[in-house]
Amino acid sequence: MEKSKVLIIGGTGYLGKRLVKASLAEGHETYILHRAEIGVDIDKVQMLLSFKEQGAHLVSGSFTDHQSLVKAIKLVDVVICAISGVHIRSHQILLQLKLIDAIKDAGNVKRFLPSEFGTDPARMENALEPGRVTFDDKMIVRKAIEDAQIPFTYISANCFAGYFLGGLCQPGKILPSRDSVVLLGDGNKKAIYVEEDDIAIYTIKTIDDPRTLNKTVYLRPPKNILSQREVVEIWEKLIGKELQKSSIPKEEFLASLKGQEYAQQVGLIHYYHVCYEGCLANFEIGNDAVEASELYPEIKYTTVEEYMKRYL
Ligand code: NDP
Repeated sequence: MEKSKVLIIGGTGYLGKRLVKASLAEGHETYILHRAEIGVDIDKVQMLLSFKEQGAHLVSGSFTDHQSLVKAIKLVDVVICAISGVHIRSHQILLQLKLIDAIKDAGNVKRFLPSEFGTDPARMENALEPGRVTFDDKMIVRKAIEDAQIPFTYISANCFAGYFLGGLCQPGKILPSRDSVVLLGDGNKKAIYVEEDDIAIYTIKTIDDPRTLNKTVYLRPPKNILSQREVVEIWEKLIGKELQKSSIPKEEFLASLKGQEYAQQVGLIHYYHVCYEGCLANFEIGNDAVEASELYPEIKYTTVEEYMKRYL
């Protein structure tokens, strides 16, 4: 079967650049949207040029120029969007409504993967303010996709390893301490951690797979379904030392949001749902969804232990 041609939007981003790499590695003809707005951002331009050197095609376009998006989309079969959606960086999820309009007009797209890559927003109808904005916006995008009958795949990637493992699951930390750790509650709720390059590799695998058409794909590498305490134990084993542990009860954690900046509050609520409620791992995958490590057992994913060794 011929491999789909892929357009990646947000190709210079934290996840987007990994999607470009994975798409090229899998042998897809890969296009990247080059937005005029990046202007003189030299890092982004250099990154795009290096992708071009590796065989990617750069396509000029802008979210403010509908026809430019339509033209770019017409070049490919599959569109993957990795536009920003983390408030502490930038949150542009609803811009995808413009992309969906362009996909509708282009009329040729066999699969669209919107910028999801986290907690399944469909399961977060009871999420707390203000963190729920991420899930609400992603659901608005889903509705637009489904109303327009655009074939889709939603990737629920759970926790990016860099954000969660790096800081031993503590918000605001991305490097593991060798002395102490604050447990969120009892630290026993299970979460799921996936290395970012692995997220991209699994994502690219799904795009030509009929089993993932119009489905949510959960990334649940079995060895990486662990509680905060278990992550800490792995780190302690690696450094040969026990960390000093304290704990922050749920009520105290929620009270600590008061007075913090909006972007921080959004992130803290996400940690709340993951670490105090176990929202990522406390449900069985239903019939409308599939699990990536079962679909692609040939992918040797990075385990939490392997990942933590990077910090030694
Ligand atoms: P980034 O913050 O790295 O941004 C990605 C890209 O979005 C940018 O490089 C840029 O692409 C594009 N972009 C940003 N602002 C604009 C704008 N105003 N107009 C048009 N394009 C814009 O994104 P992430 O990689 O952090 O996030 C991608 C997805 O992953 C999101 O859906 C997010 O929610 C999710 N995520 C999940 C996490 C988890 O733990 N599960 C953690 C982090 C993210 P360019 O300039 O190349 O066009």
